[in-house]
Amino acid sequence: MRITVEIEPRHADNTLCDHKVKPSGKPRDPASGCPGRTQFAVVCSQHGDVDKSHHVKQTAEPAATEHRQEHRAALATR
Ligand SMILES: [Zn+2]
Ligand SMILES: [Zn+2]
Repeated sequence: MRITVEIEPRHADNTLCDHKVKPSGKPRDPASGCPGRTQFAVVCSQHGDVDKSHHVKQTAEPAATEHRQEHRAALATR
């Protein structure tokens, strides 16, 4: 099975934010019902949420890369 590690934008209540938002995290369209994007989760297809969520995407990216590398290492020893 192929394992994917993605960065998922979330709202404060930990639900997926697939709305269009401004760089500030505020919704672009006030009618979209988006309460605002406040965090980024690293989600692994095998492990689910990895570690804690991140407040900015810049810190989520290295965490996602690190988790991908853990899988690569685990697969290599098999
Ligand atoms: Zn949203
Ligand atoms: Zn994983």
